[in-house]
Amino acid sequence: MDKLETAFQFLCDVGIEANRHIALKEYTTLHIGGETQILAEPSSILQIQQCIAVCKQYRIDWYLLGNGSNVLAMDEGFDGMVIVLSSNFHSIVLEDAVHVRAQSGAAIKAVSAFCAAHALSGLEFACGIPGSVGGAVYMNAGAYGGETRDVLYEAVWMDEQGALHTSSAAELQLGYRHSRFSEQGGIILEAVFEVQPKNQTEIIQHMEELMRRRREKQPLDAYSAGSTFKRPQGAYASALIRDAGLMGYHIRDAQVSEKHAGFLINQNAASSQDFLELIQQVKETVKAHSGYELECEIRFLKK
Ligand SMILES: Cc1cc2nc3c(=O)[nH]c(=O)nc-3n(C[C@H](O)[C@H](O)[C@H](O)COP(=O)(O)OP(=O)(O)OC[C@H]3O[C@@H](n4cnc5c(N)ncnc54)[C@H](O)[C@@H]3O)c2cc1C
Repeated sequence: MDKLETAFQFLCDVGIEANRHIALKEYTTLHIGGETQILAEPSSILQIQQCIAVCKQYRIDWYLLGNGSNVLAMDEGFDGMVIVLSSNFHSIVLEDAVHVRAQSGAAIKAVSAFCAAHALSGLEFACGIPGSVGGAVYMNAGAYGGETRDVLYEAVWMDEQGALHTSSAAELQLGYRHSRFSEQGGIILEAVFEVQPKNQTEIIQHMEELMRRRREKQPLDAYSAGSTFKRPQGAYASALIRDAGLMGYHIRDAQVSEKHAGFLINQNAASSQDFLELIQQVKETVKAHSGYELECEIRFLKK
């Protein structure tokens, strides 16, 4: 038995939901990606520890996936274990008058709606972000002038030895689409958000307005990972791409959205290769046209 099969058998033996040869495109909003050797969906902290431990024991690569809404998975798939945290860990609870604790697999939209239902303000900006709590903390997701770091109080996370830590938001080095987890690893398990009481009608009206703006400007019916590129200092990626004449430009089914130039979309059957070529073309054309170097916001699920 090879090491992947041995690890898979271990997951089954200890009762972890796991499958082999699963198409990653079914787990990413870009709808791109070949098969992962193993896909595990742990449902307890112990099970996450067991997934990591078996990967370490057999020197198997692993990749943590939330809702897959900021990830490009490669056509060649992943020769290891993808650990999906958004299939479980959905709890959201009100801890006290102004603190909401959410597990990493909960949708950040659901936390935003939970706050609105309790007349608590701060997470309105996240009402249209299609990621998980873990992904929102990892990416310091933000929109319309708000960011996760504005409301994050603390996070509970696991290091790669399986030890649990609680860190204040200040310790997490949250910056523009960045957190300590990008460089130092770690598995986000829970986030506590600090929010403020506010008139519920105002909260809901604000969220409806943000959703209206999103629907008007963004290609929400297309496969995408949101904005492909980070906002460069002093400019907007979408404006740079539009001004370089790239709106609608495509390489096979990978296309610069005609609705929002910052979104590169999969029209139907784009491969990761098509998408990578499009990214490269956009970067080169924007650089030649404006001098700006675009940097990817999306993450790459690869070895
Ligand atoms: C239509 C659309 C609109 C979007 N709009 C916005 C927007 O307005 N603002 C914005 O910021 N983003 C936006 N995004 C991008 C995306 O939704 C966010 O980046 C989101 O925070 C990613 O969360 P996720 O759970 O999908 O993470 P994933 O895509 O699954 O993962 C992203 C990264 O986080 C890591 N990760 C995920 N969960 C954990 C965890 N528990 N512990 C450790 N690491 C973890 C992954 O390994 C990966 O590196 C949009 C995407 C789409 C498709």
